[in-house]
Amino acid sequence: MRMENINKINAPLDSSEKSVYPKIVDKHNRSFNYLRLAVNEYCNLRCIYCMPEEGLPLRNKNELLSKQEIKKLINISAQLGVSKIRFTGGEPLLRKDINELVKYAVSLNGIESVNLTTNGILLNKYLKDFELAGLTGINISLDTLRPDRFIKITRRDNLREVLDNIQLAIKSNIASIKINVVVMRDFNHDELMDFINLTIENDITVRFIELMPFDSHQIWKTGKFYKSKDILKDIQEKSNQIKLIDGSNTEYYALQIQGAKGKVAVIPSYTRSLCGKCNRIRITADGKLLNCLYSEDGFNLKTIIQNGGTDEEVRSIILKSFVNKYKDGWLAQNSSENQRESMSQIGG
Ligand code: SAM
Ligand code: SF4
Repeated sequence: MRMENINKINAPLDSSEKSVYPKIVDKHNRSFNYLRLAVNEYCNLRCIYCMPEEGLPLRNKNELLSKQEIKKLINISAQLGVSKIRFTGGEPLLRKDINELVKYAVSLNGIESVNLTTNGILLNKYLKDFELAGLTGINISLDTLRPDRFIKITRRDNLREVLDNIQLAIKSNIASIKINVVVMRDFNHDELMDFINLTIENDITVRFIELMPFDSHQIWKTGKFYKSKDILKDIQEKSNQIKLIDGSNTEYYALQIQGAKGKVAVIPSYTRSLCGKCNRIRITADGKLLNCLYSEDGFNLKTIIQNGGTDEEVRSIILKSFVNKYKDGWLAQNSSENQRESMSQIGG
């Protein structure tokens, strides 16, 4: 179902169909129209670079964003010019109301695409509903095609379900299907071509992502980092059939095998060479607004809403937070007092 067919509601517009509120911009001339919202911090996997083996300590339910709070934050973001939303986590499909949230986001004025990032295990349960709701894209995370390695990286035995659900997603009417692969030296870097070969017959994008230092076990310090330039070099050495093509804002390198249906991208998430083009707003599962992936400090929007803050107050906090965004992720990281321990609270 194409999104234009859906009747849009909610975000107030003036008669010329433009939002009456200001847009989110910063001092460095960047504007922010992409909201990444972690709707959950729990997960049914325990990826070694993301979650401790025992999982995260269970929190009181009212410490995490409720359905109504998520809807409010999406609506306010749409008023401020957000046109793209991604639900992430933790594992977003562990939320029973995930399809209702997708439907709500799709229905808002100004929202052009609604996507989610998932480990794929539960996707078969939701795919039909997502199609009907108008979900635009799904990123499925999968770091290896080998069963023994899958168990090593995720500490669970679910590769079969993930592969089957990737096939279902490819056959669905959802426009964009991407596979996220975190590349780790001496762990899966020998599988680059196996992933790339999936793009020959399938209209998918395989995204090779740099490992980031957000894990309590610090596998980061064990020499597994494989920088985007090395990933690219490696790919080009292995195949002379693959050529650089124009990519999107976040894809430092975009490639395609000649004649392939799908594409390949390399994402410099650690080397941070794309900060100048940043358009992202992040909200954690407990409602913290982050103006950078590498920042730990942010206003808690959930607390503000719980204490009776008006939409006007929430809008003004978001605008203020972004005006003061650091020029790049290095400065943001250096200015934060704490180091993030898990990506599951922020969703990547
Ligand atoms: N559970 C969902 C999933 O795995 O797709 C959504 C949340 S997960 C935190 C989002 C993305 O962040 C996944 O693609 C995952 O591989 C990536 N990620 C998590 N920790 C990471 C790290 N330390 N470095 C790089 N990517 C990481
Ligand atoms: Fe779960 Fe995603 Fe983190 Fe893996 S990367 S533990 S699937 S939240």
